[in-house]
Amino acid sequence: MSGTLHIDWTRCDGRGLCTELLPKLLARDDWGYPVPRSSSANRSDVPIGPDSAEAAKEAVQLCPKLALSIAVRRPSSGR
Ligand code: SF4
Repeated sequence: MSGTLHIDWTRCDGRGLCTELLPKLLARDDWGYPVPRSSSANRSDVPIGPDSAEAAKEAVQLCPKLALSIAVRRPSSGR
């Protein structure tokens, strides 16, 4: 799967469960909110590598505030 993890800041409570599930993708800011480890990433849209796909799905399911979602990128059809 190739996709992006979206963080809805209006819902997040900053307790950091997702940063524990996705340590390769997310760190915590000074207030505990998840931020991308990748400096090139948009702060609320984090590219998901193949090795983090399952953990990203788990984070979406376990987020207590329903603040996470995944947008899946589909390969272009070449048309
Ligand atoms: S698990 Fe959800 S509520 Fe908790 S820090 Fe992550 S995005 Fe925010």
